[in-house]
Amino acid sequence: MNQSPTSLLSLTVAPTQVLRGPQALEQSGEAIAHLGHRPLVVGGNSLRDSFASRPLATLASQLQTVLERQKLNYSLASYSPDCSETSLASLRAAATSHQADLIIGIGGGKAMDTAKLLAHQCKLPVVTIPTSAATCAAWTGLSNIYSDQGAFQYDVTLDRCPDLLVLDYSLIQTAPKRTLIAGIGDALAKWYEASVSSGSSPVTLIIAAVQQARVLRDILFQKSADALKEPGSEVWQEVVDATVLLAGVIGGLGGAQCRTVAAHAVHNGLTHLRAAHDALHGEKVAYGILVQLRLEEMLQGNQLAASARQQLLKFYDEIGLPQTLDALGLGNITLAELRQAAEIACNPSSDIHRLPFQVVPEQLMAAMVSTTTPVERTRSQSTLTAASSLLLAAKAEPGAGKESDLQ
Ligand SMILES: [Zn+2]
Repeated sequence: MNQSPTSLLSLTVAPTQVLRGPQALEQSGEAIAHLGHRPLVVGGNSLRDSFASRPLATLASQLQTVLERQKLNYSLASYSPDCSETSLASLRAAATSHQADLIIGIGGGKAMDTAKLLAHQCKLPVVTIPTSAATCAAWTGLSNIYSDQGAFQYDVTLDRCPDLLVLDYSLIQTAPKRTLIAGIGDALAKWYEASVSSGSSPVTLIIAAVQQARVLRDILFQKSADALKEPGSEVWQEVVDATVLLAGVIGGLGGAQCRTVAAHAVHNGLTHLRAAHDALHGEKVAYGILVQLRLEEMLQGNQLAASARQQLLKFYDEIGLPQTLDALGLGNITLAELRQAAEIACNPSSDIHRLPFQVVPEQLMAAMVSTTTPVERTRSQSTLTAASSLLLAAKAEPGAGKESDLQ
């Protein structure tokens, strides 16, 4: 997995330009007009999207004023039902019929991912305007594709990062607090995943990326609680920068060599359960970090992972990140559904296999139901047995298979 210095390295490190400030959108007109005159504006319009990103119409009115002042001929389109192949096909048609020369994505992570991939497919420049700090999707040269029902399918590496990122604090401040909490969870995963997949890499830029991930984690540990108490404050802005910008830097510097591991694999598996759709990306990923640490504890006897998990549980408590399936709204899923999510997370191409040991679905299921278990001093094998017997007990309960209470 280590990149040799002689092989060709292709990196998409950062957006060409970042405009950041309390009224950044208001001041972004010229920079947008510099990129094109017939923008297609892509956002979400369904109820579910409106939670994370608010309806396209409301947001567009703020953007509209900016575009009109520059006399740009824009058209609005939604990525509903999801960031999926179907939506992209109809958006390509919309871009063609509008003769778009620029794509603008406004909204949450899925709006960003859709706009970036659409621009990539149409070979057009792209502007990202995130309306929440829930992910670093406004920064990265990567898009996740989901099914029309919202199940994760695959990701696409784009040929570059966005041409312009507009990070408007006053826009982000109107998003529900829960989105920033989710963004903190997603950003935290950078350290827990990059240190496992690339912690021993000798490659200069990867060492840099992994160290930035540690710095990011420390900033979040130190500032998140204060930031959440005072939205709009200086410390809040620093945490927004951490989740939207610094998290993006790490993905950019680390590139394909610095990929996700089990936390995102668990997220990907969970997206296949309908009941998980109300939980935000970063909430599922945050829970996935605990599952990953639990796997390291159980299968590797890793005591560092055990204490890292205890540290995270305390932090999650403090800021309100979910620690269990129950907290994700998945307390009533069946054993069959848990197995389905675990099997998807363990498929042969899954990043879970970047862990330095093998994982099978049964082991993952045991980890998924024991994220809050106290640290045991016993050997890893007996820990696993205890978690497995918990699963067996759930299975044996009358009515299990319909509504077994797994957490
Ligand atoms: Zn993520």
